[in-house]
Parts: sequence; C-alpha cells; structure tokens
Amino acid sequence: MYGIFLPTLYTKYNRETTKDGIELFFDHGAPYFTVTNTGILDVIHEWESRGLIAEWREKFGIFDCISKSFIDPEEDLLSRKYVGLPGMNSICKALCNEPGVESKFGIGVAKMEWATDRNSWSLISLDGRFLGDFGGLIATDKILASPGFTNLTGHPPPLDMNLAPQLASRIEQVPFRSYFVLMLAFSEPLQTISVKGFSFKNSQVLTAAFCDSSKPGRSSASECWVLHSTEEYAKKVIAETGLEKASDTTFARVSEELLQEFQRTGLCTSEPYFMKAHRWGSAFPSASIAKEDKCLWDANKPLIVCGDFCVNPSIEGAIESGLAAASKFMEMCRRVAEQRI
Ligand SMILES: Cc1cc2nc3c(=O)[nH]c(=O)nc-3n(C[C@H](O)[C@H](O)[C@H](O)COP(=O)(O)OP(=O)(O)OC[C@H]3O[C@@H](n4cnc5c(N)ncnc54)[C@H](O)[C@@H]3O)c2cc1C
Repeated sequence: MYGIFLPTLYTKYNRETTKDGIELFFDHGAPYFTVTNTGILDVIHEWESRGLIAEWREKFGIFDCISKSFIDPEEDLLSRKYVGLPGMNSICKALCNEPGVESKFGIGVAKMEWATDRNSWSLISLDGRFLGDFGGLIATDKILASPGFTNLTGHPPPLDMNLAPQLASRIEQVPFRSYFVLMLAFSEPLQTISVKGFSFKNSQVLTAAFCDSSKPGRSSASECWVLHSTEEYAKKVIAETGLEKASDTTFARVSEELLQEFQRTGLCTSEPYFMKAHRWGSAFPSASIAKEDKCLWDANKPLIVCGDFCVNPSIEGAIESGLAAASKFMEMCRRVAEQRI
C-alpha cells in the first residue's frame, strides 16, 4: 500500500453554525487562486470542465484608509481568479474520491517509522493508533520536521531527523509568516462596498477583505466577508501570546480589533450577526526550497515531501509541487516493480 498523508488544501474551507442554527461557509484561508504557469493550464481546465472550480468574475479594488476611498486597481487585479465549487476544498475532495483512493480524515500523524526489514513506513497517529504500513509516502507539510509541530501538539515532529537527514534538514527551518483572519456574516449586504474583494492601503491591521458569498456556488442568504490581518499585526499579537494554540481571550481580542479597523473605514455599515477569528500560524512560507525539482525526496526509503514551500507560497505553487511529487512517486514505484521482477 502507498500512502499520501496530509491532504493538501483540505482544511482551508470552514463550516460554522451560529447559535440560531444558521450554517455559514467561509474560505478562511486562500480566497482564490491565479495561474501564471501555462504548463498547468490543462489541469486547471480539466477541473473547470468537471465543475470543481470556476472563475470568480467580480470587481476587485484597493481601498486607501487615509483618503477613505477606492483607488485605481493595479494590473494584477485583472488576472483570472479561480475558486473551488462550492468551497476551496473541492479539488482535494474530488482527489479523495478518485478510484483506488482510500481517505482518512480527522487524524493527525504523530510518527513516521521506517522498518528496514519490511522496507516500509509505519504511521502512528497523535492518539497512539497504528495507521498502517506503507511502501512509500508523500508528505505535504513542512511541519513534519519542524519544531512548530511540538508547539502545537506537545509531540516531537513526526519525521525523525536521523531517518532522512538531508531531506529533514532542508524543511526543518523553512521560515514562515503568520496571519489572522476574521469571518463575518451580515444579514444585509454592505451597500457601500462596490467591489467583492479588495486590499487595504495604509492600514497597519488589515491587508485584504473578500466577500465569500459573492463567489460562484455560494449561498447569498447572508453576506459573508473574510478579513485578513497584516503580517505586522499578527506578529505583534503572537509576540505577546506565543505560538501555542491561541486562547479564546486572544481570539476575542483579535476579532474586536480587526472588526474595529474595518468599521473605521466607513465601509462596514452594519453589525455582523456572526464573527469568528482564526490564526494561520504558518500561513505563508517565506522561502522556496526546491524551485528546480519542485519537491524533495529520499529514494532509498521511499519518501517524497511536497508543498507550496518547495515552489511558491500559493495554491499554484502547491499544485506544481504536487504534480512533481506524483510524477516522482510513479518513477519510484516503477523502479521498485522492476527490482521485484
Ligand atoms: C490566510 C491565507 C491567505 C491565502 N491567500 C492565498 C491567495 O490569495 N492565493 C493563493 O494562491 N494562495 C493563498 N494562500 C496560500 C495557499 O493557501 C497555500 O499556498 C496552499 O494552501 C498550500 O498548499 P499545500 O498543499 O502546500 O499546504 P497546506 O494547504 O497547508 O496542506 C497541508 C495539509 O497537511 C495537513 N497536516 C499537517 N500536518 C499533519 C499531520 N501531522 N497529520 C495529518 N495532516 C497534517 C494540514 O492539516 C493540511 O491540510 C493563502 C493562505 C492563507 C493561510
């Protein structure tokens, strides 16, 4: 059996239920993605034709917090913006339903053990369960060899440095940027906002805002917005509160501060009936560690590591890295099969 653990892009779509039982959906991670590499356009078109993604055709802008007005958009705002249907996790959901794929959810991998006698990897979950033996692994998160794993779980990182030292040392220290986001739901549309997504200029707290309910395939029963903090704001809060799991008090403070900044713009003309903050502790890697090969591997084990941190901190970068990992994996499988003949 082969294992691809850590399903990419899967968590960045959030279902919330209000106290009154209203279900709300937010893309609280990446609001959309763009494609610049024509080499992956075939994949994008296939997903589009299968109804997994669609173009988000709305007006986008830039809001200047000093003049309190929208200013002329720059060119890159005109690039095609794709969103998953009905949420950003649609692509991974579809991949999980491909024939021959068995998916497991809600399980954190705490340990990857290599058995030389069996030539296989054993995976152990955070609650100590044996998850199976695998002839090869593709892992999609840099946290598998980073101290950040211990901050979050109290466990040592899943990949022991001694098992794949060269690979582990490259992912161990990938620097990253943190962000907070605030999910908001309003019962009425915010009439003063003429665009459905915009970045903030001259704000130390907010970097962007996106109207999720304006995306194709979403419910428009409520108007849902997602606010993204600046990196500086997140740094300041994390310096005061630490990188461990944030407390309810921290989230309440962040919710208030992000909402207040939104209200100061004059664009937020009514009170949200729902708000919830989320912290992305390692939202964006600030280094690309495998620009050429697009993934890392240890052919002896066999283990492949891929993700946006290999190529570019974006969904496009993650797709490119995932495709490279898949092709490397097929090559490794062929080699194992040949050795058995
Ligand atoms: C706030 C925010 C805004 C963004 N905006 C944009 C944007 O506008 N456009 C764009 O293109 N990109 C954007 N991105 C970046 C984009 O979301 C990432 O580049 C992309 O999701 C990276 O995909 P990945 O597969 O490399 O990693 P991830 O999506 O992080 O996937 C890694 C997966 O591994 C799982 N995992 C980790 N450890 C374990 C474990 N031990 N056991 C089991 N599972 C584990 C995680 O739960 C996760 O599901 C944004 C990201 C954030 C957070």
